[in-house]
Amino acid sequence: MNFDTRAIHAGYDPEKHFGAVNPPVFMSSTFAQSAPGKHQGYEYARSGNPTRAALEGVLASVEGGVKGFAFSSGLGATDTVMKLLNAGDHVVVADDVYGGTFRLFDKTYRRFGLDFTFVDTTVVANADKAFTAKTKMLFIETPSNPLLKIADITALCEIAHKKGAIVVVDNTFASPYLQRPLELGADIVLHSCTKYLGGHSDVVAGALVTRHNNLAEKISFNQNASGAVPGPMDCYLVHRGIKTLGVRMERACDNAEKIVTFLLEHKRVAKVIYPALHEHVNHPIARRQMKRFGAMIGFEIKGSVADGVKVVSGRKVWTLGESLGGVESLLEHPASMTHASIPADVRRKIGLTDGLIRLSVGIESADDLIADLNEGLAAY
Ligand SMILES: *Cc1c(COP(=O)(O)O)cnc(C)c1O
Repeated sequence: MNFDTRAIHAGYDPEKHFGAVNPPVFMSSTFAQSAPGKHQGYEYARSGNPTRAALEGVLASVEGGVKGFAFSSGLGATDTVMKLLNAGDHVVVADDVYGGTFRLFDKTYRRFGLDFTFVDTTVVANADKAFTAKTKMLFIETPSNPLLKIADITALCEIAHKKGAIVVVDNTFASPYLQRPLELGADIVLHSCTKYLGGHSDVVAGALVTRHNNLAEKISFNQNASGAVPGPMDCYLVHRGIKTLGVRMERACDNAEKIVTFLLEHKRVAKVIYPALHEHVNHPIARRQMKRFGAMIGFEIKGSVADGVKVVSGRKVWTLGESLGGVESLLEHPASMTHASIPADVRRKIGLTDGLIRLSVGIESADDLIADLNEGLAAY
């Protein structure tokens, strides 16, 4: 069956629940046994809960894997996937991964004897050179945050597999509606469901999906051993969000395209970053591996940090805030918000200019979003 049908029907059978069209929220930490060890599939809710099982079923289906796993946050999923490794193992990581991912690897997992090399994985040769005899995992994120760089999933998987390493792809920015890394050769897909999968900015959750039964067994063990599992209500909310992923992404992409056209024509905008644009360095790869180009946009004004602050402040439709992927449009100014802790010279070196503004385009009226942005651009 096609994606939109699976997003609504996979993972759950109403027949088993009095015909209820939605999965019941099982608020139960334990399950009665008829004799010691004799139960109906569930014993204790860290190990499994029927509401979570329904979500995990639909996650596996939309990403095209054999098994899905839900977590209490995206970083909970990342933490759990790293436990596939052993002290002494080496990991090649994209140098512009999510800040929290970098922090977890650099500050926590280095202390446990894992070694990391951070490279620009948009240049396949760079990634190739970074592998050592000890490399067991390649960890990438595409499109990346906030510069929307695109890594070639197929080419990177070929290299990693030749070297005996598994590939984990953080697919948060694209969502499985636009990009399915497992079909391109990746071994594990990771999500912050807090973003597009949940889609309504009302829940923090994470996910892993794999296409290999042996990895599924290990992840299942680690999920239960570490216990970063979501509660049943959170599972329900993410599951409900996934049902409308297709229509939300289509509308958000439509809006994003209109906003990109507006920005390109605006004389106070110096640069627009969007993978659909031919001048985007990775445009050909984006075209090949994504269904559409997403709803994240970056643009630069020729101005100072203070000017950037003026453009994003006091907006009427856009919400000033971190995060992304909800029905409501968000904007943020990396130099004064998400990336403020990076020293100014380093920021410039990695392409994060003082006037860079990041948009997470939602599903409001594009006309209202454009009018509000136009006001912001007149304010500096
Ligand atoms: C938000 C985010 C994460 C972390 O997810 P949480 O749900 O906040 O723990 C990981 N990767 C990307 C790309 C993200 O945007």
